Amino acid sequence: MDQNVNFPDPTDRPSMEASRNSVLRIRDRERKLIFKIQEALQRLDNGEYGICEQCGEEIGIERLKARPVTTLCISCKSSQEIEERKTKRVV
Ligand SMILES: [Zn+2]
Repeated sequence: MDQNVNFPDPTDRPSMEASRNSVLRIRDRERKLIFKIQEALQRLDNGEYGICEQCGEEIGIERLKARPVTTLCISCKSSQEIEERKTKRVV
């Protein structure tokens, strides 16, 4: 049995840190996605699923297919993204 198999070369540490960080990032993204899915299921229960949070219009079926957890129609989403970009530029 090769004991070294479970103990990677210490010089490999930076890349281990990097992959650890990316695992944490992925986990964080998954947590947020799970939360969004739970919200979407709740909206399904309330009969609010597929309705834009902002303008109350129906979100297009194509958009729901592409992003089932979205709460904004395409036009509200794009204006939100424009606003976000503006804020980031100020900061
Ligand atoms: Zn909208």
